Order: sequence, then C-alpha cells, then structure tokens
Amino acid sequence: MKKTVEKVAIIGAGPGGLATAIALRKQSIDAHVYEKAKEFRPVGGGLGLMSNGLRCLDAIEPEIAITLKLAGCQVKRVTVNTSAGETIRTTESTMMAKYGQPFLTIWWWRLQQILASALPPEVIHLNHSYIGFEQNENTVITHFDNEKTVDSDLLIGADGVNSTVRQTLIDDGQPRYLGTMSWRTVINYNKNNNLLPPNEVVVMRGEKSILFLLNLGEGNMYWGARKVLSDSSLSNTATEVKSRVLKEFADWIEPVRKLIEATDAERILERPICDKPPLKQWSYGRVTLLGDAAHPMSPLAGQGANTTFEDAYELAECLCNFSDLQTALSAYDNRRIQRTAIIQTLTGESEKGLDKPTQQTNQQSQQEREEFQNWLYDYNPKSESRLRPWKEKVVI
Ligand SMILES: Cc1cc2nc3c(=O)[nH]c(=O)nc-3n(C[C@H](O)[C@H](O)[C@H](O)COP(=O)(O)OP(=O)(O)OC[C@H]3O[C@@H](n4cnc5c(N)ncnc54)[C@H](O)[C@@H]3O)c2cc1C
Repeated sequence: MKKTVEKVAIIGAGPGGLATAIALRKQSIDAHVYEKAKEFRPVGGGLGLMSNGLRCLDAIEPEIAITLKLAGCQVKRVTVNTSAGETIRTTESTMMAKYGQPFLTIWWWRLQQILASALPPEVIHLNHSYIGFEQNENTVITHFDNEKTVDSDLLIGADGVNSTVRQTLIDDGQPRYLGTMSWRTVINYNKNNNLLPPNEVVVMRGEKSILFLLNLGEGNMYWGARKVLSDSSLSNTATEVKSRVLKEFADWIEPVRKLIEATDAERILERPICDKPPLKQWSYGRVTLLGDAAHPMSPLAGQGANTTFEDAYELAECLCNFSDLQTALSAYDNRRIQRTAIIQTLTGESEKGLDKPTQQTNQQSQQEREEFQNWLYDYNPKSESRLRPWKEKVVI
C-alpha cells in the first residue's frame, strides 16, 4: 500500500514526540522532532509507567521497554501514610500479576534520554522553537523562531500542556487551574532515610495536601508535594519557592520537613496543576495533536505519559493502515478522544477532591474503581478490545 505520509514534523521532544518519531520511523516514515530546548538537561520529576503505557512502548520498540525496566524502579508496594507518619494502608502492587507489566517509576529525564537514544541523532533538532504553520492540500509548512521552515506531509503538536501548536490550531485559551499547587524534585536516594523504603511508593496525606515519594532507580528518588491553594501565582525566586513549600508543609512530621530543608532550592520546580476541557476534534487537515498537547490532565492517576504512549502507538498504526491521510487522522481521533476525555475528566474531578477529607470507599465504589482500573490498565495494542469505551461515571 502507498504510504499515507512520507515526511512528518513533530513539535516537542518530550515522551510523546520521541515515542511517536520512533514508531513512525519503524514504519519507514521520515519523522523529525523539533524541540525548543537548546540541550537535553536533567529536568522533570518522577513518573509512573503502568501496563497500558508500557505495552504500547513494547509494541513500538521492545528494546525501549527492556531498557526502561532496567533503569527505573519496579514498585513492589504502595504505602499510604498520614502527614503525622501513621500508616493508613500498605498494598502489594498487583500490576505484574494482573496485567503482566510492572508498575515502573522513572525520572522524566531518563525516560527522555532512553527514548532519544533510540533515534538517529540527526532527526532530533534542538533549539527549534515552533511559532506557526500554514497548510494547503499538499503540504504543511512549519515555522521556527530561528527563521527556519520545514515542509512536511503532516505536523504533530506534541509540545505539552502549554502547546503552541494547539493554540495556532484551535486557540482554546490557557490551561485551567485545578486548584492545587505542586512542588517537585529529584534528589539522591539515601537508603537510610526513614521515609521511603526501596522499591516502594509512599503517599502521605495531610489536610488538603498530599506528598508522593518515589524510588526512581539508579540512586535517585522523587518527592512531589501538592496543596490545595487558591493562589496559583509562582514565587519570584528559588529561595521563595523553598520557603513557600516549607511553610505549607510546616505541620508535617520532621523527616518530611528535613527532606524539604535538605533539598537544593534551585532544584525545586513549582507548578500549578492544570488541565483543559476535552476536545471533540484533534486533527485538522494536515495537523494533529498528541500527548499533553491534546489531553492535558491532572497527574493524580499517573496517566499523562501512559496515555501519551497509547496516542503514539495508535497514530502510527492509523497512518500505516489507512489509505489516505484524512481517513487515518479521523480514525486516530476516533480511537483516542473518547478514552482520554474520560481519563481527563475523572482525574480532574479527583484533583478537586483533594479539597475534601479522605473518604472511606464503600464496597460498590471499590468495585467500580477496580472495573475502571481494569479498563485503564488492560489497554493492549494486540487486542481489538482496547478500543471499547468506558461505560459510566466512576470515582477514582
Ligand atoms: C507533578 C506531575 C507529576 C506527574 N506524574 C506523572 C506520572 O506519575 N505518570 C504519568 O504518566 N505522567 C505524569 N505526569 C505527566 C507527564 O509528565 C506528561 O503527561 C508527559 O510528560 C506528557 O508528555 P508530552 O510529550 O505530551 O509532553 P511534555 O512532556 O510536556 O513534552 C513537551 C515537549 O515539547 C517542548 N516544547 C514546548 N513548546 C515547544 C515549542 N514551541 N517548540 C518546540 N518544542 C516545544 C517542551 O520543551 C517539551 O520537551 C506528571 C506531571 C506533573 C506536572
């Protein structure tokens, strides 16, 4: 079959843009990635890769999934504590037993490095900040701030939650603040710390606040603190950021305060947690969206990167299996929009729920939660059943 596209320009060398380039190049499509950063630097926080994301990466390129599993931390246990340090519950991770893939935690930067190393270096163009495009029946011309332009058959906006491609394409305004501020960083993992045992994820819950502690493998750990705050303005300096998080977590147990105190202020990233309402259409002519640019969501369910890898797999599949671009892109929209809209909506509601005291889940909602998790984590590129829609509303 004649290829739907020969040349593709992808904006953004985050997990989504890189995974998509790998998937397309494996199908002999000449995909190039354009990234505004001047170099790849050790930035970002820790994230969790689950069975749905890992299966898609495995289907794109098995070597990547193998390397990630060696680099990251395979989580055995999740413990939920109070901010006073009392254990609410400890659960063994059932991800491997139930879904055949580990619950893997890894540094965003290592994920980026591993994905980038699976591409020929000459197809990643750093220091290319996207500023606009024009399209006609035959081509799309992309413009960068360094005055370069690129002609391609398809432009993919994988440029994150503040996507400029989405702004040019749809112009649907700024992300909306979900009412929670976050502070996060990656630091060296000290085995003798009394907060985070090896191979564990620890979640601590305080009043209108939550702290995630993740082992990331290779001697690194992540702490990510979130608090419900009406004020979403950013601090002016790194010192102010650190003072703010120390103030907001002042009534937490001493080891938490010490952990924050011991962190280099320059390395704490302060961000408001935002999303956008789901879109009805992602693809227009020769331009489409992917990852956080298409479906920015609260990180509470740890699905941002995982759903992004689903997008990458499905977009490459559609471009290879349909005979013309418009049919391929509308199939991509059909496969992805409903699923990601549900996850976006539910995670957004849960993020707003941080405002309320922790509730006991009754048996019915526990069952619904498990069904929802099955739908989420069962996503398998090798099975047609992955495209089944979720049936109803659920509290996650
Ligand atoms: C606190 C927090 C915790 C999270 N935890 C998890 C988790 O546990 N699990 C999970 O799955 N996800 C998590 N996420 C979400 C996850 O980080 C993202 O969903 C994921 O990285 C999306 O990938 P992406 O490639 O679409 O976008 P991004 O990772 O945002 O990458 C976008 C890329 O585009 C580049 N770019 C932006 N603008 C331009 C431009 N104009 N021109 C060129 N390049 C541009 C950026 O520099 C960047 O490299 C978390 C997010 C946050 C904020």
